Amino acid sequence: MNRIYLDYAATTPCDPEVVKAMLPFFNEIFGNPSSIHYFGQQAKKAMEDSRQKVADFLGAKPEEIVFTSGGTESNNFALFGVAVSLETKGNHIIVSTIEHHAITEPVKVLEKKGFKITHLKVDKTGLVDPEDVRKAITDKTILISVMHANNEIGVIEPISEIGKIAKEKGIYFHSDAVQTVGHITTNVNELNVDLLSLSAHKFYGPKGVGALYIRRGTKISSFLHGGDQERSRRASTHNIAGIVGLAKAIELCQQKLPQEIKEQSELRDILIKEIPKEISDCRLNGHPLKRLPNNVNFSFAFIEGESILLHLDMLGIAASTGSACTSSSLEPSHVLLAIGLPHELAHGSLRLTLGRWTKKEEIDFLLENLPKVVDKLRRMSPLSNK
Ligand SMILES: *Cc1c(COP(=O)(O)O)cnc(C)c1O
Repeated sequence: MNRIYLDYAATTPCDPEVVKAMLPFFNEIFGNPSSIHYFGQQAKKAMEDSRQKVADFLGAKPEEIVFTSGGTESNNFALFGVAVSLETKGNHIIVSTIEHHAITEPVKVLEKKGFKITHLKVDKTGLVDPEDVRKAITDKTILISVMHANNEIGVIEPISEIGKIAKEKGIYFHSDAVQTVGHITTNVNELNVDLLSLSAHKFYGPKGVGALYIRRGTKISSFLHGGDQERSRRASTHNIAGIVGLAKAIELCQQKLPQEIKEQSELRDILIKEIPKEISDCRLNGHPLKRLPNNVNFSFAFIEGESILLHLDMLGIAASTGSACTSSSLEPSHVLLAIGLPHELAHGSLRLTLGRWTKKEEIDFLLENLPKVVDKLRRMSPLSNK
């Protein structure tokens, strides 16, 4: 069967060039970068070259990049690190209601420990209003965290404006940029962020490696203790192959970015235009324009997203109902509820995310089959009168 992958927001395959760049670091250049001998120094050089590449891509300095095990760790590090280091200064943290679970869950833990959390509402397209951020700030606020783009509905938040407000007030600003790094421009100075999370497997790098950008001077406590790696900010022996892969993936994205934005948004726009023509009672979730070049998210009335997924999978098409983490639970997505969808529509959502190897023929195949799947499910649905 010809398989079509339209779930690039869940994870991406490694680019073959990334795999090639990583291979020597498993058994040839295998040293521990903390060792002072030849083997260690060889690995250390590769690591520092990688750090430089990541820094260049973000408009940062190499010493501002800390390698981590991925997006989840970077987000936890940012939240707990700032909370612990500034707890004598204040206990108030501001986040949006549509953050990834890697923000919402650690925030719940902080809340139990006595931190006060403000959850910023979004409008019906998923946008945070920067003025709401300004209004939420108190003299106890120590951190603001708003994601750069949402993983489910693709909305791109006004990070630069929010960052400006945070800067004016002298409050640290973190952004979960796991969905944007490698996909749209992510310059830390243009975005006015102090902390920024990224993860390699979302931009054609390997799984289990990421980074946290930490602006120079930011007071942040370590999260992992037990070694002086990463200038004592993150203990544990470096994942050298992963770090080299992450940097190679970023380098490739840097070269391909303008072209990929153009190609993917063209295919995205075909889907956004054609799906409502072919299928009645559906709505696009997320902002029509301020959205990731590769994200399409629709809700279909009367049917379940899971059923659509299963039927598409039988046809060889891989998609998602929302975030990979929520698709196994029966709770509707907190993101779709936050943009005001009633439970029925939140359950009937389908996310299609495109990527480096998505072809026009694949989009055509989907457009040919999705209306049939929806129609078939609606005929079986007690909610529909079809
Ligand atoms: C995937 C994702 C994460 C988690 O990253 P991992 O590297 O898988 O831990 C965090 N935030 C967003 C927005 C994501 O899409």
